[in-house]
Amino acid sequence: MADEVFQPGTPVPEAGVYQVLHYRHRLYHEVTIRRAGSFPTCSECGSNVRFRLVRSAPLLEDDRNFGAARGRGAT
Ligand SMILES: [Zn+2]
Repeated sequence: MADEVFQPGTPVPEAGVYQVLHYRHRLYHEVTIRRAGSFPTCSECGSNVRFRLVRSAPLLEDDRNFGAARGRGAT
C-alpha cells in the first residue's frame, strides 16, 4: 500500500505529500495534494505522470481542532 502508484484521474485517497513521477521530461519532485478531487494530468507528459504517496499529512483545515468543524458540537 505504501508503494501504491496512482494515475491521473484516480481519486486522491488522502491528503499528503506525494512524489510526482514524470515521463522523461523532468526529475521526480514532491508536492502536497489535498484530498478533494482526483490526481491531475501533467501539462507536459499528460496522463503518463504518476503519483506516489510519501506520507499522509492532513490539512490544518481538516483537523477537528482547527478546521471548519471547530466548535460544531464539540465538548
Ligand atoms: Zn510531466
